[in-house]
Amino acid sequence: MSVFDARSFDGHEIVAFGHDKDTGLNAIIAIHNTCLGPAAGGCRMYPYADSEAALDDVLRLSRGMSYKSALAELPFGGGKSIIIGDPQKDKTPELLRAMGTFIHSLGGRYIVAEDSGTSVADMKIIKEKTHHVAGVDSSAKHLGDPSPSTALGVFTGIQVAVKHKLGLDELSGLRIALQGVGQVGYYLTELLTRAGARVFVADINRENVRRVVEEFGAHAVSSEDVIGIEAEVFSPCALGAVLNDAGIHALNAPIVAGGANNQLAEERHADLLLEKDILYAPDFVINAGGIIEVYHQTNSAALESVKDQILRIGDRLKHIFARADAERRSSHAIAEAMAEEKFNASPKPVELEPARSA
Ligand code: NAD
Repeated sequence: MSVFDARSFDGHEIVAFGHDKDTGLNAIIAIHNTCLGPAAGGCRMYPYADSEAALDDVLRLSRGMSYKSALAELPFGGGKSIIIGDPQKDKTPELLRAMGTFIHSLGGRYIVAEDSGTSVADMKIIKEKTHHVAGVDSSAKHLGDPSPSTALGVFTGIQVAVKHKLGLDELSGLRIALQGVGQVGYYLTELLTRAGARVFVADINRENVRRVVEEFGAHAVSSEDVIGIEAEVFSPCALGAVLNDAGIHALNAPIVAGGANNQLAEERHADLLLEKDILYAPDFVINAGGIIEVYHQTNSAALESVKDQILRIGDRLKHIFARADAERRSSHAIAEAMAEEKFNASPKPVELEPARSA
């Protein structure tokens, strides 16, 4: 199958395939759109069933990054990379260095950061081969790991969604069903329980569940049941495509607001949520805290604090919810249209290196 015919191909500027014989690296970097700046996005390592599944994931994720950075008003385009393999078994320093060399070959058109299956420590190894790496600055000013910033943005988004849908100013006493308590879910559980919410958590990793139950008093539920729990908010923070026909049918919450990327299985599921009167916080708006943090690591001249920038996610969502109500369209469609307005205002890919004369 050709890339151009792939299901999730959306006019991506560059799709590069990287292989290294010595380390067994099989990786793909997808650059969706660089109209607003170099393409920034995480590197995911996952044991994909086949290369078609890997290609589909990287195409979808990189497109999502274009929309996320545009709406977060960052001078970044959208990109993502994937390494095919099991991070528990296949990840070696040599493989990560080979990935660094692959990223470097794109000359700065793609800036990498951590994602599912990779860590800040892995990014430091990649940085031995390329300086096009963000999210590794763990100075006092910045945390390095973007997950706490992502969680803060999601927390703010949940507060705004609760105010919009239920008219409540406080999360105290509300029930939140949280799917996935990895890096983002851990910090989000902390923020929610501190705000007095009752958090029901599920994760296929028992150790991750134990951590949040013991540290924050969260309530463990099964991974099968979490989406159907009666709650004010369902917060997906694991993998994508949970908002599919069966998932939406099972939902027992008036609000969906979580950190996972690509929550909608298909675009039509945004309309199904609207039909069912479920308020959906578009994933690429609510989960932008991490990329905002990463941007500020690359731009030490930023005047406002990173936290202030992240809290603006709440204002953006307020605006999107109001416009969606007024136009009777899904919040997802409104958010996509707003991002596209930004690309269209700057329709040419950024030129990274001055053109050389022949
Ligand atoms: P992570 O891998 O640390 O956490 C994901 C958790 O979900 C893991 O604990 C995993 O065991 C669990 N999980 C997987 N399948 C599950 C299932 N079927 N049911 C319940 N739990 C399941 O990843 P993360 O960094 O916390 O990211 C979570 C999501 O948020 C991903 O979709 C990621 O792309 C997105 N995201 C993360 C960031 C960030 O800053 N880390 C930023 C933006 C978006």
